Amino acid sequence: MQDIGLKIGIEIHQQLDTHKLFCNCPSELIDKEPEIEIKRRLYAVAGESGKIDAAAAYEQARKKTFIYQGYSNETCEIEFDDSPPRELNQEALDIALKVAILLNAEILPITQVMRKTVVDGSNTSGFQRTMLVARNGYIETSSKKKIRVDTVCLEEDSARRIGESENSVTFRLDRLGIPLIEIATAPDISSGEEAKEVALKIGEILRASKVRRGLGTIRQDVNVSIKNGERTEIKGVQEPTLIVKTVESEVKRQLGLVGKKQKVEKTVRQALETGETKFLRPMPGSARMYPETDLPLIKIANDMIESAKNNLPKLHSEMRDDLKKKGLSQEMTKLLLSERKLEEFKSLLPLSKDNPDLIVKILVLYPKEIASKEKIDKKLIAEKITIDVVEEVLEAIKENRVSESDTKAIMLKIINGAPVIEALKIEKIDTSGIEEEIKLIIKEKPGLSLGGYMGIVRQKFPQLPGKDAMDILKKLLPL
Ligand SMILES: [Zn+2]
Repeated sequence: MQDIGLKIGIEIHQQLDTHKLFCNCPSELIDKEPEIEIKRRLYAVAGESGKIDAAAAYEQARKKTFIYQGYSNETCEIEFDDSPPRELNQEALDIALKVAILLNAEILPITQVMRKTVVDGSNTSGFQRTMLVARNGYIETSSKKKIRVDTVCLEEDSARRIGESENSVTFRLDRLGIPLIEIATAPDISSGEEAKEVALKIGEILRASKVRRGLGTIRQDVNVSIKNGERTEIKGVQEPTLIVKTVESEVKRQLGLVGKKQKVEKTVRQALETGETKFLRPMPGSARMYPETDLPLIKIANDMIESAKNNLPKLHSEMRDDLKKKGLSQEMTKLLLSERKLEEFKSLLPLSKDNPDLIVKILVLYPKEIASKEKIDKKLIAEKITIDVVEEVLEAIKENRVSESDTKAIMLKIINGAPVIEALKIEKIDTSGIEEEIKLIIKEKPGLSLGGYMGIVRQKFPQLPGKDAMDILKKLLPL
C-alpha cells in the first residue's frame, strides 16, 4: 500500500458515575417536562490572547437565541450560571486519578481549573470548565506498539441539545456539569484498525471504573490527517467498530481533495452512523482557554494518589483470569461480568466452591430466564431474589434438601410471593421405586442408546426431573 502518511489520534469522553462536578445535583438525564426556562444570547468572549476565536465568530454570526430548560430540584443555580461553582467533586477526581494511573500517566501535583470557550450555546456560561489531571501516559497495542496518551482531563459535560428552530436552539440543563473524563492520545496511530484497538483498550479501563453506562455516556472523537492534507476532527463516532469505516471515508475525502489540488481545510466534522462524515464547523483556534477565577488551585496530594494506586479497579481481562482459576466456566464468567455481579459472586463462593457455575446460574441466569419466559419485571425479580435468598437456596442444595433441577421452580414460587422457607419445602421425589422400574425397562429393551432410554423414561415418569432421570440412567447403564 502506498504510504499516505496517515496519522490518527483519538479522544474519548466518558461520563463518571457520581454527582455533578461543581454542584451536588444528580448526574442523570431527566424525562419529565422542564419546570424552569430561560432565554439567553451568546457573545463570544475574547480568549487570553485577546483574539476572538474563529469558531466563536462563526457561531455568533448565526445569531441564535438559546433556550435553557431546567428543574427546581434536579438542577440548581450553578447550571444556570447564576452562582459560582462549588468545590470540585473529590470522588470524580479520585476516579480520574485511577484511570490516569491505569493509563501510565503522570499525575500533576497541582493543577488549575480552566475555562474553555464554548461557542455553540451548550454551556450557559459560554465556557466549559476543564482541568488537566495527568499527562504523558501510554497504552500498548497487541503488537507492542506504544501509543502515547497526551492528556487526561476532568471536565464538565455540556447541556443536552434537544431542539432547534430558525432563531433558537433549546438545551436541557440535566446533562450540564456531569463529570467527564477526557482522554486524548497523540497522533501515533497509523490505521483505522489500530485506532479501533486503542479505543477498545481505553474502553476496557473505563468500563472497569465507576462510570455511567448506556447510550450517550461515552463519546469518541477521531482526529485524522494525511500527508498534504489537514487535521480533521471527527466528532461522535458511536462505536469503536465504526472507527475503521470513518477513518477510511475521511482518508478518501482528503485524498480526493489533494488529488484535485484543492486545499484541505482544518475542520470539525460530525460522524454519521454510516461511517461517513459531514461538515460541522471550522476548526477552533488556540485562543480558547483561560483560568477559572472562581476556583482555587487544585492540589493533588500524594496520599490521594497513593490511595488511588492501592484501590485500582480490576480490568475485565484480569477478572476473567481470576474467575477461570476459581473454576467458573467461560459462559458463566461472561454473564457474571456483563451483569456486574462479581462482588455478590465472591461473597457466595464459599457456599459452592466445587460448583461455582451454580452460583451464577441462581444469581444471574435463572432470574434472566424467568424474566423472559414468565414475562415478569426484572425489578420485581431483583426485589424478591435477594442475595440472602440465593444464599438460602444454595445452602438447601448443598445440604441435599432440594435438588439443583428444582431451583428454577423454587425461585418462581418465591417471586410469586411464597415465603422462602415454604418454597424450599419441595418434596424430593422418591426415586427408589422409579429406579427399579427403569431397571426393568433396560432389561426389556436392551441395547438402546442413552438418548433412547431417556425418551422412554421421560415419557413414563414426567414428574421426574430430567437431570435425575439422566443420573439414574448413567448409574444403571454399563459404559
Ligand atoms: Zn446543580
